[in-house]
Amino acid sequence: SNQLMAGKRGLIMGLANDKSIAWGVAKACADAGAELAFSYMGDAFKKRVEPLAEQLGVTQLFDCDVSNPASIDAAFAEIEKVWGKIDFLVHAIGFSDKNELRGRYVDTSRDNFLMTMDISVYSFTAVAQRAEKIMTDGGSMLTLTYYGAEQVMPHYNVMGVAKAALEASVKYLAEDLGKDGIHVNAISAGPIKTLAASGIGDFRYILKWNELNSPLRRNVTIDDVGKSALYLLSDLSSGVTGENLHVDSGYHIVGMKAVDAPDI
Ligand code: NAD
Repeated sequence: SNQLMAGKRGLIMGLANDKSIAWGVAKACADAGAELAFSYMGDAFKKRVEPLAEQLGVTQLFDCDVSNPASIDAAFAEIEKVWGKIDFLVHAIGFSDKNELRGRYVDTSRDNFLMTMDISVYSFTAVAQRAEKIMTDGGSMLTLTYYGAEQVMPHYNVMGVAKAALEASVKYLAEDLGKDGIHVNAISAGPIKTLAASGIGDFRYILKWNELNSPLRRNVTIDDVGKSALYLLSDLSSGVTGENLHVDSGYHIVGMKAVDAPDI
């Protein structure tokens, strides 16, 4: 335990269960002394999220559907009422129709393209708009992305296009909010077996490939992501904004399958 986040308050969005990347980030922040609020989507997740909140002593818990502006407004109004201001925000939210996370990108439907962009891209800007107003002493915003934004990855399809737009929004938001001392960054996480990831075709193969071919020769965990998130959310990254930090065992630097990696 450390006190890197002592006296800081933040909202973590995108907690579904104890496999969620949001949970890895929440644990690291709580361990560093932060006070947290959680948002989750839909009553179905309430039962999963309540005991997690309890485990970290979190009492502010919101049902927030980011595809509904009124729902986002309500969550932020509640936070403002209770805390007045926040110091950090974590956006660990993404969604696409799993039928389009296989097959060809070219076959993406208009409806799913728009829905994926709304929930996985625009929602970060939408929450940044609300969070900016209550980050009155500056702060840090963080979103989660994936290498499929930069290079073509099997089955990632429309989600790769969405993550490319998300990474571009991080840069534009960093410029807009920088003058107010608000940092905006992303973590590009390597593949981790979560609920969202289970919608991606051949995900087990992708995990194995990354394990065998990344420089660290292992997959990352939600705790690896949590520790790097702590850097980006705390004063340790005081000179950093608009950054996309790869927490992927180094996979993004690799140009070719490792010679010692067995065939899978
Ligand atoms: P997860 O399923 O645990 O989290 C995804 C969250 O998005 C869930 O809590 C879900 O309820 C939420 N969500 C979906 N639609 C929503 C809506 N309309 N309103 C509010 N919330 C909504 O999976 P995860 O892997 O922890 O995903 C978190 C983030 O990390 C996502 O952006 C994902 O793309 C990204 N990411 C994941 C991986 C991976 O391999 N798991 C790798 C890189 C990036």
